[in-house]
Amino acid sequence: MPAEWMPGATRLDVGGHAPTDGGPAKAIGHITWDRNATPAAPQDLVPYENLQSWFGRNPSGIPSAPHILWDPFTGRITQFLPASSRSKSLADGPGGTRTNRAGSVVLQVEALFFPYCRVDGKVYARLIDTPCKGWPELLAWIRSWGVPDRWPMGRPVDFVSRRDEETWEEEAGWYAHAQVPENNHQDPGSWPAFTTEEAPDMDATQAKQLAELHKALVPYKGWDYRGNGKADAWALLNNLTTQVTAQTAAIKALAGQLGDDVDTATVVAAVEKAIADAVVKVSVDVTGPTNS
Ligand SMILES: [Zn+2]
Repeated sequence: MPAEWMPGATRLDVGGHAPTDGGPAKAIGHITWDRNATPAAPQDLVPYENLQSWFGRNPSGIPSAPHILWDPFTGRITQFLPASSRSKSLADGPGGTRTNRAGSVVLQVEALFFPYCRVDGKVYARLIDTPCKGWPELLAWIRSWGVPDRWPMGRPVDFVSRRDEETWEEEAGWYAHAQVPENNHQDPGSWPAFTTEEAPDMDATQAKQLAELHKALVPYKGWDYRGNGKADAWALLNNLTTQVTAQTAAIKALAGQLGDDVDTATVVAAVEKAIADAVVKVSVDVTGPTNS
């Protein structure tokens, strides 16, 4: 039996527990988005304690309390409702899905963050630019409730809404607030990777490519982010990056063994060019069929 209250989290029970409706296990990513800052006018992050009091003690805040408030800068976590209860951070219109209850669990996480927040003099544009402290522990607890490591509507990379009732009803995994039916919020804009190892997050080019793919692929039901045995574009790009790094290292090592007759730099440059050419071909393969 998984733990109703996340080990190590501060417990601030707001009461009013209520069962979920059953169905695919889900987790929802939010950011608190307390202030509207810009690159030209960043603003200081709101203190964690303010949000803790708002959701945990304020009569106006309790009705929208998530399960989890997560401070990605320090790793502090407060939990307001037990895992098997619904929490309250999603809008739920009359009829249709009961958003906050639409799963065996619907675990909602509010990351303490807004774009261009300032912490210790540094400005952060995206949640994934923060240290994401505490994420491995939080992810482990959410996994323990049967939420799979996948984004049925795609990992969030921007603040564009993409919602699909059918996917929501049928598919387990993580959803951005921007991907939940009957809602109009566009958060969280980005979210940390599922791996707890040293896999790099997407760089800016990869994120842009993925966003373009998503635009083309929303109506395409074959798309499955990190799906069952089918490699998607994100996986391909990351596998490719890993392979290129490994191959380059191997070639460098080999070239080193060949001795003084061989110009190591020339060999490495030739191999890197060959790999770069191959990368161009792979990205054509990925984008080609989806445009039809
Ligand atoms: Zn939200």
